[in-house]
Amino acid sequence: MMKKICLFLSIFLSMFYASAAAAQNECVRDSLFPGVGNCGYDVSDYDLNMEWKQEGDLWYVEETITFLSEWDTDELSFDFIKGYEITSLKIDGDPAGYEQTENKLIVRHPGRGFAHDTAYKLYAVFHGKLQWEEYPLSDVENRDPEKGFCMFNEPHMSRHFYICNDHPKDRAAYHYSFTVPAGFTPAGVGRLTEIREGNTVTPVNGIPLERKQEEGPAEGTVTFTYEQEAESAPYLFAVCAEPFDLKQQILEDGKVQLDFVSRHLSDPENPVKDQWELYFDDDWKNMPEYAWEITKKQPEIIRALESYFGPYPYDDLGFILSGFDLGGALETQGRSILDALDFDDTVASHEIAHQWVGDLISLADWSDLWLKEGAAEYGAVLWEEYKSEHPEKYDDFIPYDEFMRQIYETVANGETGFYPLDNWAISELQSYYEESAYEVLDHDAAVRSISAFCQIPGDQIRLKNGEKIIGGHVRDTD
Ligand SMILES: [Zn+2]
Repeated sequence: MMKKICLFLSIFLSMFYASAAAAQNECVRDSLFPGVGNCGYDVSDYDLNMEWKQEGDLWYVEETITFLSEWDTDELSFDFIKGYEITSLKIDGDPAGYEQTENKLIVRHPGRGFAHDTAYKLYAVFHGKLQWEEYPLSDVENRDPEKGFCMFNEPHMSRHFYICNDHPKDRAAYHYSFTVPAGFTPAGVGRLTEIREGNTVTPVNGIPLERKQEEGPAEGTVTFTYEQEAESAPYLFAVCAEPFDLKQQILEDGKVQLDFVSRHLSDPENPVKDQWELYFDDDWKNMPEYAWEITKKQPEIIRALESYFGPYPYDDLGFILSGFDLGGALETQGRSILDALDFDDTVASHEIAHQWVGDLISLADWSDLWLKEGAAEYGAVLWEEYKSEHPEKYDDFIPYDEFMRQIYETVANGETGFYPLDNWAISELQSYYEESAYEVLDHDAAVRSISAFCQIPGDQIRLKNGEKIIGGHVRDTD
């Protein structure tokens, strides 16, 4: 029964992949966000040296993008928010011509152009004040540079931090370093390979490691170097500068688990403290301990989901438990971000399920968001069911039928942030992004999603007044 859903989803996914293939010099735009993503090339590697300076909230980046040109063309465009000062831009060592629009960097290779099936390196150096003003999901008024920051790049905010092809269709490896001032720890995704404090360089690739924030340097900077060899969509790349404690351990199967827990989670001045108190009363003071407890459950959540989805796809796992209210959790590749108001093992299992669907298998078009969100939420259902089968360890679980019914009713009533019928999400998306959102989230897509996710034949699903779904059954009890 469960495997059938996954098979159904994978057929859908491969259909979308097939339809997304573009002919030479034909550009297929994203139907939900036609303004993001670019055609004519395929990125294989982002090499980034990034530094955040607290004073002035400044961002310094040296970047090399390795890409294969798919067209014969004079110019190629990249996603990059306007506002940073570009001090160097080269193609294969030659000074590049360029111009900028609000969200694009258009690059020319003077006198040479770009040739079909040829690899190039775009080298760029830029800096400036971090571009929060245009950053749709951050609460700019509440953001305090004194406390650091954490990227949250879904669906297309990577362009606020680096030059990229900001669409999940173009996935690439990442090799990067991230430098922050003393008092912060540079968390990121991928494999941590090296820690640099002043003149001291410590190799840490695959080595057990525990580090409290106060063990970092008292002054100067600290740099962490990472590599993410498995291809990643730009929105699944992130770094966070917060006062983190970290723990790295090598699991029995050789995978490396690296977790970061923010000290902001025990900060009585944290703007979300009132909300913690609402849920935890005085127990909010134990938030970091609670966070570490969540990190310990990952290997078991992975094992539970592997029995349905197949082997966990990456060599690295872990969480970044941010102390900020980021608006939710995000399945950043191999190491998800859980925010200060959104962490428990149900959310954790949702983000881990995304590592298979969303990360390993990524969207070809943002209007199919439900494909990955539906599958991830189903992963959370499976985790809850696993807990119910292990009463000796778990006394808190949501029964399978009840969880599926909750999801169905949430979808039917349009009360969630990621299903096609959600008017709230649509209006949010519209206010943030392009105006075409409403048109592409249509009746057929809604029926398709409910049908696949809740295993209800499409002809049993009816839309009432174009808004609500009624009828159908959540699941046969067999
Ligand atoms: Zn999700």
